[in-house]
Amino acid sequence: MSVTSPPSDWHRSLAAAIRDPHVLLKSLGLSADLLPAARDAGELFPLMVPTSFRDRMESGNPNDPLLRQVLPIVEEHAESPGFVVDAVGDSASKRAPGLLHKYHGRALLVTTGSCAVHCRYCFRRSYPYHEEPRTLDDWAPAFDVLHEDTSIREIILSGGDPLMLTEVRLDDLLTRCEAVPHLSRVRIHSRLPIVLPDRVNQELIDRLRASRLTPIMVVHANHPHEIVDDCAESLRELVESGITTLNQAVLLKGVNDSVDALAGLSERLVDLGVIPYYLHQLDRVRGAAHFEVSDERALELMAELRRLLPGYAVPQLVREISGELHKVPLV
Ligand SMILES: *Cc1c(COP(=O)(O)O)cnc(C)c1O
Ligand code: SF4
Repeated sequence: MSVTSPPSDWHRSLAAAIRDPHVLLKSLGLSADLLPAARDAGELFPLMVPTSFRDRMESGNPNDPLLRQVLPIVEEHAESPGFVVDAVGDSASKRAPGLLHKYHGRALLVTTGSCAVHCRYCFRRSYPYHEEPRTLDDWAPAFDVLHEDTSIREIILSGGDPLMLTEVRLDDLLTRCEAVPHLSRVRIHSRLPIVLPDRVNQELIDRLRASRLTPIMVVHANHPHEIVDDCAESLRELVESGITTLNQAVLLKGVNDSVDALAGLSERLVDLGVIPYYLHQLDRVRGAAHFEVSDERALELMAELRRLLPGYAVPQLVREISGELHKVPLV
């Protein structure tokens, strides 16, 4: 069980992540015909996928819903009107390097640009991470704003993926957040419990539970096939440790744009005690147009989910709109 693993294990799993499309295709018994496109599109945003996530893909299936999330394909080069670099207006809400403040009471720290997996649809595939803090001193202006603005009650650690930070840096950031008197909650937005489950170790759980701030973990899984084996185990550990755990998914054509996939995802999550929180309409980032599902289809899927599932298992379908004061539900 990963709960008893020494903390360094996840670093080894991360180092072993697949970065070469040839290795990925070969290990899944897929045709080398897919390779040139994968190499080419991988130059815009390189392939990266941990072996644990690869192990949950179906061999020989080029349309596997997990593979589609990570394999670079030729469609990423398509220019599509409305698909832009800063798809969610992040630049406009920046209050200090690394600090985004868009919504009432919540502020978000862009803690790192790294992730353990490169999701092809990611709205941050073109985010200017090099402008964000690197050293601990670089964070001073962000924490000055947090100390001054007493309306902020919840701090969201995001990225990239905040659980990619070393134990020391994560602990340092948490400690600084704990020193802001008016904060009462810390939320962690991470895909690592899904794609690199051994990141959920006892040291992490202990650090979060020891915090003066109430911890909330928001993970990111899109398809029921992701929630098996070591991933299911990591979610169970989070939930059993008493940390409120939510999931956000992105609605993706060819991945989860079916009632079966979405209902199956919700069922697996709630069986483990994880609440389906949001289903996001895709952010219109350049290179991701082929993943877009129409609003009309999205609403049909939601109506079906409401018919099939208990209310608490139906996520809110939302879209992020630049300048809006909250995520906007689609109805
Ligand atoms: C999504 C997001 C949040 C959190 O919004 P919730 O509706 O509370 O989940 C906060 N800040 C930013 C910049 C976000 O993009
Ligand atoms: S883990 Fe999250 S931030 Fe990282 S590439 Fe995937 S969607 Fe983007």
